Amino acid sequence: MMDDKKHNILYVDDEESNIRIFKNTFRRHYNIHTALTGKEGLQILDEKRIDLIITDQRMPGMSGLEFLKKAVHKYPELNRILITAYSDYDVLHRAINEAQIFQYIEKPWDQKDVETIIEHALEVHRLRQEKEQLTSDLKESEEKFREMAENINDVFWLKTENKILYISPSFEKIWGITSEKMYNNLHFFIHGIQPEDEQKMKEVLHSNEYLEKGIFDKEYRILNTDHEIRWIRARSFPIYDENKTVVRQAGIASDITRQKEAEMGLIKAKEKAEENDQLKSAFLANMSHEIRTPMNGIIGFTELLSNIDVSNEEQKYYISIINECCHQLLTIVGDILDFSKIETGQVELHKKYHNIEKLLNESYNFFSQQASDKNIQLSYQIDLEDEKPEIFTDKSLFTQILNNLLCNAIKFTDEGSVNFGCKKQKDKLIFYISDTGIGIPQDLTKKIFERFLRVRSKKAQQYRGTGLGLSIVKGYIDLLGGKIWLESILNKGTTFYFTIT
Ligand code: ADP
Repeated sequence: MMDDKKHNILYVDDEESNIRIFKNTFRRHYNIHTALTGKEGLQILDEKRIDLIITDQRMPGMSGLEFLKKAVHKYPELNRILITAYSDYDVLHRAINEAQIFQYIEKPWDQKDVETIIEHALEVHRLRQEKEQLTSDLKESEEKFREMAENINDVFWLKTENKILYISPSFEKIWGITSEKMYNNLHFFIHGIQPEDEQKMKEVLHSNEYLEKGIFDKEYRILNTDHEIRWIRARSFPIYDENKTVVRQAGIASDITRQKEAEMGLIKAKEKAEENDQLKSAFLANMSHEIRTPMNGIIGFTELLSNIDVSNEEQKYYISIINECCHQLLTIVGDILDFSKIETGQVELHKKYHNIEKLLNESYNFFSQQASDKNIQLSYQIDLEDEKPEIFTDKSLFTQILNNLLCNAIKFTDEGSVNFGCKKQKDKLIFYISDTGIGIPQDLTKKIFERFLRVRSKKAQQYRGTGLGLSIVKGYIDLLGGKIWLESILNKGTTFYFTIT
């Protein structure tokens, strides 16, 4: 019966009596496998798990030495012991050189000595096996580490107080610089840091936390060799030895640019949503005011009209006011309809050639009374070389753009003039509407085209409106493939420009 816990010894000897003695002596401690010839011994080595070989030298056919030479070739990790006669010096010499035997035993052997030699040989074998296992484990774990360090997107580094031991190749992917180049730079991970974050990282690198323990966790921006700004999150932490002394610092730098962009996008979207919400509430409050005012006018003056003793003159006056209120309501309803048509993409374009002079003149006539009622000088110019200047556009949309801008210019101007017209700049037709009114604050010159937006200054809020006009203008200009922009000086005036392709 073989015992799994016992070591396995192969004993080769051509004399059966020797085999019997060896077996009887040692079988309590070891599993003994025996062979009568070297050939048989080699076969056992191939088939069984053996921990030690012991062979007699003198055997017919293959000698012990020949057998061991074959065994060392195939199973070099096993210890080999040769049993020789007292005078076999030459054989011993060769056995040491050619079969690298562990020990030899001289005949007649003493049980105690042999036991010691066997134990020693097995111990050496066990240690060797352990060492091999450890080396292979170490190799495997190093390979695993390298595989991981080289395949993760994050940069991983290892350093002592004054030397970098390792930087993973992903450094190259993020920074665009070969990691070899950075081995002499102890703080390589802040290479290319942006001025905005430089001070913060200097403080980190001089902090006690970092100097004493090597700890930090910070985000900063770098400019890589592709001239892209990348957001980096770098973390460093200490590695202690068994005495709790810091021996190394390890660190990880991750490219968190996408995450940052998403975060910033979210913040922007949230701010925009909040702003939209505020604008919408302001719009609804404003709208109800804008509708209620003419409505009250209509109701109030119709009641007055139903009074029997109203004179003819008074009747005419009341009716003109009711008429004015109805127009105001119609404008508001019209704006809401135009706005929702743009929002739902239902505006249809009907483009044709139109005479510019005619278009501008129609708008001039439409607003001349209103301007003169406010004592504002209204004028227009056409500064073009063509005799009959034409534009290929949708007349209804073009007129609404121009009229909306003129309406605002007259509305927000209390004295002075409103001048509009058309000129050519680098082969492009540019329309403009210029007033000497209250002006628009600089920070709003782009935002003013957003829906519901109105200037919130005390002065601007004295004028009525819904905040829809300019967003309708911008919507139409986008549909016509043009551009709109403005120049303005507060309390001096505003000029809107637009092109149409
Ligand atoms: P509304 O005139 O109904 O308020 P608009 O969308 O036409 O809405 O205009 C938005 C805001 O832009 C106005 O409330 C006003 O504050 C400002 N604005 C527009 N045009 C002028 C102008 N010519 N001069 C000064 N402010 C203007």
